[in-house]
Amino acid sequence: MNTNGINHILIVGGGTAGWMTASLLNHHWRKWGIQVSLVESAEIGIIGVGEGSTPKMKDLFDTLEIDEAEWMPACNGTYKNGITFKDWSTIPGHTEYFHPFGCTIDSMTYQFFREHTVLRRQGHDVDVTPERYFLMSQLAAHDMAPKAAQNFPFQFDYAYHFDSMLVGRFLRDKAVERGVRHMTGTVEHVRRHENGDLAAIELADGTCLDADFFIDCTGFASILLQKTLQVPFVSFADNLFNDRAIAMPSEISGPIPSATVSTAMKHGWAWKIPLTNRYGNGYVYSSDYCSEDEAETELRSHLGLLDDDTEARHLNMRVGCTERSWVRNCLGIGLSQGFIEPLEATAIQFIQTSVEMFIQAFQNGEFSNYHQQKYNDKVNQNYAGIRDYIVLHYQTNSRTDTDYWINNRENPNISDQLRDIMDCWHRGGYLEDELQRLGVTQYYSPISWNCMLAGTGQFPPVSSRNKQHPGQVNQDYLQQFFADCLLNFKPHREQLKLGPFPKCA
Ligand SMILES: Cc1cc2nc3c(=O)[nH]c(=O)nc-3n(C[C@H](O)[C@H](O)[C@H](O)COP(=O)(O)OP(=O)(O)OC[C@H]3O[C@@H](n4cnc5c(N)ncnc54)[C@H](O)[C@@H]3O)c2cc1C
Repeated sequence: MNTNGINHILIVGGGTAGWMTASLLNHHWRKWGIQVSLVESAEIGIIGVGEGSTPKMKDLFDTLEIDEAEWMPACNGTYKNGITFKDWSTIPGHTEYFHPFGCTIDSMTYQFFREHTVLRRQGHDVDVTPERYFLMSQLAAHDMAPKAAQNFPFQFDYAYHFDSMLVGRFLRDKAVERGVRHMTGTVEHVRRHENGDLAAIELADGTCLDADFFIDCTGFASILLQKTLQVPFVSFADNLFNDRAIAMPSEISGPIPSATVSTAMKHGWAWKIPLTNRYGNGYVYSSDYCSEDEAETELRSHLGLLDDDTEARHLNMRVGCTERSWVRNCLGIGLSQGFIEPLEATAIQFIQTSVEMFIQAFQNGEFSNYHQQKYNDKVNQNYAGIRDYIVLHYQTNSRTDTDYWINNRENPNISDQLRDIMDCWHRGGYLEDELQRLGVTQYYSPISWNCMLAGTGQFPPVSSRNKQHPGQVNQDYLQQFFADCLLNFKPHREQLKLGPFPKCA
């Protein structure tokens, strides 16, 4: 392979982004003689909060040929069927809904849901509860793992929850075992070639590390991309208000849920992520609307930990992305490149997609300015595609308890594409056609858009003339179908081989 004159790649930063990138590059290019090295600071920690994934993470471990039986127990990992959204809507019958990941069985049941959402928008009184139509929603409702018996020949796009510190360590150990060179040190200075390319980094102890290509995985610090190469940051603060988070663990006992819960709070939302040994919790909020202390008190009260001395970690978040991710001989990956708030747990997926796109460009020999620009445009489109879906959660909220929610709903700063999607929905059009026309189905599927819009109750009142409709599906049939399907799955605890939980005396 033409290695574009690159024999040594230096990754700066050893968080999830650094170790995922190192693992993937090493996996693909070690055979071409390309050395991958990673340097991380022992003083500056990692952010250590990304604990939920999308189904894309399964591809990572499959590519690296690492079995679930090995990595999941090592990282306190659990299975994830999707996300429950609580209290985002106040509309009766719509105060909670489930956003499932996909499985091939959806092709048999989604049509009913889709038709119902159209009929309901025309004023017919038909059922539009998303969780009644999707197997992964049913699995989550019964605390079951998305791993079917062998005689159940359908595929599941399930995801995971995990301890992010442990995943980082796990990937580090594997990567080092497989040939990645690991060093510690804090970058103090970056040397440039005369033409402006990066030449080497100087560490606090005086060590100088050179390379042909650099990958900036230094988190929000963005030492190479933003600080050294001065790539501007494009903020999404006009679209997404949240800029702070608090994280704290709580105990887990009893059945282990197989879904994340996202509960709307006064000035943001709280996550609840089940691991095998604890829950990871957090509150993502806007500092324009509430102070650190208020947010911590609200989170503690929500978790029933008001008088508990469990430590809370306060974090700043910068939501947006760099104007370009690949500049000269440097690529930004992870938080250094950009971040969309974690409502749909997309950051780790983004890391993976960006690395895969870079690998593809590299292998195609696409190192010209033109191809760099193409890569950067694609990355920015990915950010915009994910951002719009996240923004819709706020646009569809119906809360009136705080200015935060009212201002979010009334925020006029939304993209033209999102406006078109919402218009299509409200005029009773076919969402699939509109999403296809806009070319956005690669970010979120029509199922995802339909679930959110229906789940939060974005419907006109039922017309008295349109009470019944002959086209509605028989719910008894659907429920029996799913009940039969569930016979092929195990309780989540059992699938994780955790044994039965102790019964109360
Ligand atoms: C509140 C919150 C919740 C989140 N939840 C999710 C989620 O559920 N799912 C998801 O996919 N993502 C989530 N994320 C995002 C996720 O945490 C990150 O995308 C992921 O952890 C990758 O981070 P990183 O490796 O880019 O940065 P970091 O973890 O911050 O790592 C930065 C690295 O750079 C090193 N470094 C920094 N400066 C220097 C220097 N001068 N010299 C040498 N080394 C240096 C540090 O030592 C560290 O090793 C969340 C983020 C936040 C803020």
